[in-house]
Order: sequence, then structure tokens, then C-alpha cells
Amino acid sequence: MSGIVGRPGPVRLEPGEKVRRLAPARDARWEWIDVTGLDGRPEYVRGACRHLTPAEVRSVVTDELLAYLCPDCDAQLPAA
Ligand SMILES: [Zn+2]
Repeated sequence: MSGIVGRPGPVRLEPGEKVRRLAPARDARWEWIDVTGLDGRPEYVRGACRHLTPAEVRSVVTDELLAYLCPDCDAQLPAA
């Protein structure tokens, strides 16, 4: 008797089968600039921060919203 047959496992590629390489996962918090490298492969350069998760900065005394701080790039963003 052989061992376990038909057990699901990782997808195997046939020899010579090419995997289409996707662009590397890019951090959504930043803009990425598509630049093609000298060898023709796509490369991405991190661009401006998108300030996706600004943290409120409030006055301790009046609870007035003073500004936002972006934890990704430490930029201070205007409250209004
Ligand atoms: Zn930012």
C-alpha cells in the first residue's frame, strides 16, 4: 500500500512554466512612482505620503481640534 494519495498540497508548477511576477506589494500609505529600471523591469519609487491615518491633535483645555498629525511621515496637517 502506498501512502496518502490525493492529499491537497501547494500548487506546483510544471518545469518551464513561468510565473508572471506581479509588482511587489506597495504600501498603500504612500504614492508610488512607476519608474522603469535600466534593465527594463518596473520599479517603484516611494513618493508623497497620502496621510491616510491622521491622528487628531486636540487642545487639552478646550478639546478644540487643532491639527492632525500623520503618524507615517510626522507631517502636521491643518485641522480644517
Ligand atoms: Zn503622511
